[in-house]
Amino acid sequence: TMQPVVAQQAAPAARPWLNTRLTAEQRADALLAAMTLEEKAGQVSQQFMFGAPEQFAGQVRDAKVGSLLFVTDPAVINRLQKIAVEESRLKIPLIFGYDVIHGFRTIFPVPLANAASWDPANIERGQAVAAAEARAVGIHWAFSPMLDIARDPRWGRIVEGPGEDPFLGAAIARAQVRGFQGPSIGTPGRIIAGPKHFAGYGASEGGRDYDGVYLSDAQLYNVILPPFAAAVEAGAGNVMSAYMDLNDVPAVGNKWLLTDVLRRQMGFKGWVVSDANGTKNQVVQNFAKDNADAAVRSIAAGNDMEMSFGPAASAETLAASVRSGKLPVATLNTAVRRILVAKFRMGLFEVPFVDEAKAAATLADPAHRDAAQSAAERALVLLKNDDNTLPLTPGAHKRIAVIGALADSKRDMLGPWSFQYDLPETVTLVEGIRTRLGASVKVETAPGIQFRRNVPSMFESITIPGQAKKEPRWDEARADSEFDRAIDLAKKSDLIILTLGEAEDMSGEGASRSDLKLPNGQLRLFQAAVATGKPLVVVTMSGRPVELGEVIEKAPAILHAWYGGTRGGNAIARALFGDVNPGGKLPVTWPRTAGQVPIYYAHNTSHSPKEQGKRYWDIPATPQYEFGYGLSYTSFEIGAPVVSGSVTAAGKVTVTTTVANTGQRVGDEVVQLYIHQRAGRASRPVRELKGFQRVTLRPGERRTLSFTLDESSVKYWNAALKDWVVDPGTFDVWVGSSSNADAHATFTVGGAPRTVKG
Ligand code: BGC
Repeated sequence: TMQPVVAQQAAPAARPWLNTRLTAEQRADALLAAMTLEEKAGQVSQQFMFGAPEQFAGQVRDAKVGSLLFVTDPAVINRLQKIAVEESRLKIPLIFGYDVIHGFRTIFPVPLANAASWDPANIERGQAVAAAEARAVGIHWAFSPMLDIARDPRWGRIVEGPGEDPFLGAAIARAQVRGFQGPSIGTPGRIIAGPKHFAGYGASEGGRDYDGVYLSDAQLYNVILPPFAAAVEAGAGNVMSAYMDLNDVPAVGNKWLLTDVLRRQMGFKGWVVSDANGTKNQVVQNFAKDNADAAVRSIAAGNDMEMSFGPAASAETLAASVRSGKLPVATLNTAVRRILVAKFRMGLFEVPFVDEAKAAATLADPAHRDAAQSAAERALVLLKNDDNTLPLTPGAHKRIAVIGALADSKRDMLGPWSFQYDLPETVTLVEGIRTRLGASVKVETAPGIQFRRNVPSMFESITIPGQAKKEPRWDEARADSEFDRAIDLAKKSDLIILTLGEAEDMSGEGASRSDLKLPNGQLRLFQAAVATGKPLVVVTMSGRPVELGEVIEKAPAILHAWYGGTRGGNAIARALFGDVNPGGKLPVTWPRTAGQVPIYYAHNTSHSPKEQGKRYWDIPATPQYEFGYGLSYTSFEIGAPVVSGSVTAAGKVTVTTTVANTGQRVGDEVVQLYIHQRAGRASRPVRELKGFQRVTLRPGERRTLSFTLDESSVKYWNAALKDWVVDPGTFDVWVGSSSNADAHATFTVGGAPRTVKG
């Protein structure tokens, strides 16, 4: 029912919400009671800080914003916070958010690379470092982790997420939330996690960024939502709603999604923020009739805070909408309360400022760089290694040509969403190799080609302090001479290390592709390098699987390095020269060509993954590399799964297997467990990942691993019944080194067909 609109009281002399003996909820209620409608509308408004900080002083003083984003200078943060807590009427502190995606000053591998480590503990460590650095400059909240399951590598934002699989994605989600937040919101040196983009953003038509998404409820519940459910269960304080239409309703204005699913079914208790301009976008999406309508509809749907370029529609219109009866004040109160609770829990009323003097030391902490290097090493995926071409023997080659546009580029080593393009501490591949080999080896480099997008990147229009401008586009003569210079170097060398892939701005937001081929003449560069007859190894770097074509056949060794971050160059060099044995596995199916997309291992067909080769007449229907694939410098043997028990309401199955290092080097194997339901009330995928463990083994070492399966492993959301169900019967289980695992057994799920808790 509508509340009568009465004039609010002025702030009481004593501010009872400052009483720290009250709970965050009680304090929020006390503060809420003192706020005017205008202050409430301001509190749910967040603005980008593009331009001079002074520009925002007036809005902060007048309580027209509750949060700012995109400011990283602790002095500026303190200056604006001082206005909020000293000059605004109720002295409510601002909460500062930022895209802390894969590091802050110390850049870790891009998220898809981190996923390739199959190592949640490593991922948690990385986000804890990122949190410490961000908090050190005064940031309280990350728009991260990005948890969009993506099965279309044309979509540029696949680089930001956990890959194609909901089970791996859920493990990574939990790890990131713990890494950002620590044991609870308000832990010193940590920040709030904001999983995004809720939900379905990774399934856009054609892989085109922002395009509409049509997902059945079964896909939504079984594939898209599990990582979010895991993040919510881990206590994530915030969620960001997605830009696009989900089944014809913009996610930001989708009450079913944000309230029924996220809050009622998944139990989310924090606050929801829109994506950038997401609220106002509902007008462009032919959903809301104007900004005022848009602000009402997003907040009524359960989107509490509006992220906005320029003044938010919420700040400008919500008070009037309450007064005119378009929005119940209770709905606005609920949103404000959620935001205030977060501010209280973060301790912002007690400690609003950041210690500027301490920031620089935290950002320069050498332990952070070491953690980034170890993460980059763990993300490496060895795609091919004929005749043990790798590792190379240090000193065996006296003159090495490191060729390719990615060979000596700091910016590209960092990958998208680092906002720090030419930091001196970033180590390129060339620098990493020089450091590894020392002065007795001549290491030379030439780009050979120049990367360029046909459509400029959206980030080129944003000026970031310290950002180097891109080199002007080469003319034809320069392009020819650079190509020749690279091949000349290759001819004079006794080893070629060729980098192939994509520039960092070829994936990420607004960076979808219509095909997956190696761009900008790199195939020609590869062919010319091969034609020199010199020994050659290929290092690929990209934020998505790319079509490697003849490189797959002709290169004896291919190491996929993604974008490794600050210490990526050291990590790759150490792997090339044998100090590190690659142990990463693909978190996403690697297609042969874009025409196979979408392609993923957990599909529903009547064929096993190995018998799907007869469906296209022009190419095999199998991918180039399957999900979970990755080689090692050593070899492993994984034994048959041994099953005990059966799954019942209370009963569990234990699957044990052995893994042995049968080669000559220390190495890591990721032992993966997949299941398959043979029959039931719906067709289920041919395989589904339900367990994995990354282990390090010495030569000759053997270990027994055990996995547990229970009802949560076999439950699925049934479209006809609109509920989570368990179907009894026989299930297959495989263990192995990829989704093509061979070692097989069966287990049973007992009892009657039933519904279970979601
Ligand atoms: C992106 C979000 C990001 C936000 C703030 C948007 O364009 O979709 O992922 O957090 O900008 O930078």
